[in-house]
Order: sequence, then structure tokens, then C-alpha cells
Amino acid sequence: MEKKRKLSLPAQIFIGMFAGIVLGYFLIGHGDFTTTWIKPIGTIYINLLKFLVVPVVLFSICDGVISLKDLKRVGSVGLKTFVYYMFTTALAVVIGLVLANAFSGFFAPLPSAELGALEYEAKTSPSIMQVIVNIFPDNLFKPMVNADMLPVIVISILFGAGILAAGEKGEKIGELVNCMQEVVMNVMMMIIKITPIGVFCLMTDVVAVNGASVIGRLALVIGVAYMGYILHVVIVYGLSVKFLAGMSPIAFFKVLAPAMICAFTTTSSNATLPLNIECCNKMGAEPEISSFVLPLGATINMDGTAIYQAVATIFIACCYSIDLTLADMAMVVLTATLASVGTAGVSGAGMIMLAMVLTTIGIPVEGIAIIAGVDKIFDMGRTCLNITGDATCALFISRLEKNKKAAASKAA
Ligand code: ASP
Repeated sequence: MEKKRKLSLPAQIFIGMFAGIVLGYFLIGHGDFTTTWIKPIGTIYINLLKFLVVPVVLFSICDGVISLKDLKRVGSVGLKTFVYYMFTTALAVVIGLVLANAFSGFFAPLPSAELGALEYEAKTSPSIMQVIVNIFPDNLFKPMVNADMLPVIVISILFGAGILAAGEKGEKIGELVNCMQEVVMNVMMMIIKITPIGVFCLMTDVVAVNGASVIGRLALVIGVAYMGYILHVVIVYGLSVKFLAGMSPIAFFKVLAPAMICAFTTTSSNATLPLNIECCNKMGAEPEISSFVLPLGATINMDGTAIYQAVATIFIACCYSIDLTLADMAMVVLTATLASVGTAGVSGAGMIMLAMVLTTIGIPVEGIAIIAGVDKIFDMGRTCLNITGDATCALFISRLEKNKKAAASKAA
């Protein structure tokens, strides 16, 4: 009897995305229909991924810390990860600034009547110091209930460290955390199986709703942002994967494709986290490293968001005919890098944090209204980049740790 061949999950996800684009194209102008009837099915998929984010981060990071076995190692892996994340994010801002400046001659100033009519309430953008203070929880459950990931990460690291420090008694709890991690991963696998349907529904709605507006005057700034995304992928990630992770970039992107498509359609790094962990482990990342580095990255490492913020800042400045000095640009690098740390891995968060960058440079925050309508399109690309950056780091740190282990066992 001939066995029926089943399509692989990545192939199914790709077909889902493609079919969504085609159907969305035919439904351009019927956005109300897709938003009412098709998008909710995608929303169910995103909800399922989202509810799992807190347990995934909590148990992954805690288990990651425990399996690193000593606190010194946790510190050294954490530090290397942080330096890599900040360095690649700063590079991303520079790429965004260089490109946006190169094209700034084409970003026409808006007539003052149009500028006067702009409204944007940026009430949720915190200051830099507030971002730092908010990292530290004043309550165990509040951050989990609100899915506030930075404090959840701090809680996970502290409990992981406490378990290690508690010696024999901690071991029992460590085993429990490991079992919970296994259970959460199995729930995750069940949800991941419906990714093709979720991707199909979300894509249909995005194309049907945004299809026409992209052709308008914002096409250029969207194009510049995407150019930045692509350059960053090719130059920074290509080189990093090849030389730091010691892997073929083509093989890397092939295995990571399902996670990239998931990020592109869900526009949430958090929602993509489970799939990203799975893809990285498939590529040979050490599970204890990926379960520590990836949840951290989904929260603090946002290279795509940084590129978007650089491009959007220059674009909005041009709309207001504001000339930015070199010192302003340096400030953009600093604030956009910090803003990307404070940006939650959820849909649209990067636009809210853009307000922080604009305020620091002295550009009217209402300018965000010019690009807010097509934020989804920026967000798709930037989220895709955000999770790719996390994956390159997981592979790089895994390689460092493997080399360290090999050197230690040779010396023994
Ligand atoms: N949606 C992005 C993410 O989840 C964050 C952003 O809006 O820039 O990574």
C-alpha cells in the first residue's frame, strides 16, 4: 500500500502565506469583510500563542539558568548575549539612518495645513529611566498577569539562581521546573501545528486592508525601511551566521523560514518564540542556551524595530522640514537602541516607543500619525528581523559554549 506523503510544516506555512496574499489581493476593498470574518480565526491562533508566552519564558529561562549549572556561567552567557544584542541593534540603527538620509531628498515636507491636522496621543511612551525602573518587579504575579516580559525575565533569572544556590533542596525544584518546561513545550507543539491556518487568515486580512494604501505616498518610506531590513539580514546576519556561528547562511535561513513567516504574519516576537526555539534547536543550538538567549532576545533585542525607528524619525523630520544635526543622529542611535530594549515583543509596540525617540530629538510626536495607518506593514518586516537576530545570537553563543566545553575536556 502506498503511504500518503504529508507536506512538511514549513511548506504548509509557506502555502498558507501565499494563499493568504492571493485571496487578500482579490478582496482589496473588502477589508470590512476580512476583518469581521477571516481575521478572528487568525486572532484565535495569536491568542493561543500569547497565552503560552509567560509559561514559555518563565520555565525556559529558569530551566536555562539551572542547566547552566553555576551562577558564574549564567553571568558570562548573559553578558555575552547582552553585548551581542546591543551591538547588532546599534548597527541596525546606523543602517537605518544611512539609508533614510540617502533617500531623504525624496521625503517631501507636508503642507502646514496637513501637519496642523495631525493628532497622535503618545500617552504610553515612558521615559528612559522609567523603562529601566520598570524592569524590576514589585510584585510576583502582576508582571505575569500583564505579560510584562522584562520583569518576568528578572523573576525567572532570580528563581533559577535561587534554585542553584539552594543546593540539594533546590535540585528537587529544578527537576520540577524541567518537567514543567517539557509540558509547556508539548502544548506549544500542538499550537504550532495550526500555524498555516493562522498565517493564511492574518495574511488575507493584511493584504485586503492595506493593499491600496501602500501604493500611496508612504510606499517610499516603507521601501526604505524594507531595504534596511534586507541589508541588515544580508550583511549583519549573513556575516554573523557564517563567521560567528560557523554555519552556512543558506542552511540557516532555510531552517528558520517557518519562524520568520510566523513573525511576519503575527507581528509578535513573543508569539513566535516557541517556533524560534524549535528551529534553533533543530540547527544544533544547545537547548540550555536557546532557552535562555531566545526569550531574552524576544524581549530586549529588536534590530528591525531599531531600523524602523531610525527611518521613521528621519521621515517625520523631513515632513516637518526639520534638519537633524550629527549630534541628533548620535542621539537617535542611543535612544533607538534603548527604546528597542523597552519595546515589548507584541504587535505595534515599536510605534509606541518611537514616541520616546521623537521626544528626545525634539520632533513633534503627532508626526507618528503620518505613518500610523501603515504600521502593520512596517511591523511585519521588523518583527521578522527581530526574531532572526535572536536566532543568530543563540547559534553564536552555543558555538562559544561548545568550544569552551571541548577545550575544557581536552585539558582534563
Ligand atoms: N512587533 C514587534 C515585535 O514583536 C515589536 C515592534 O512593534 O517593533 O518584535
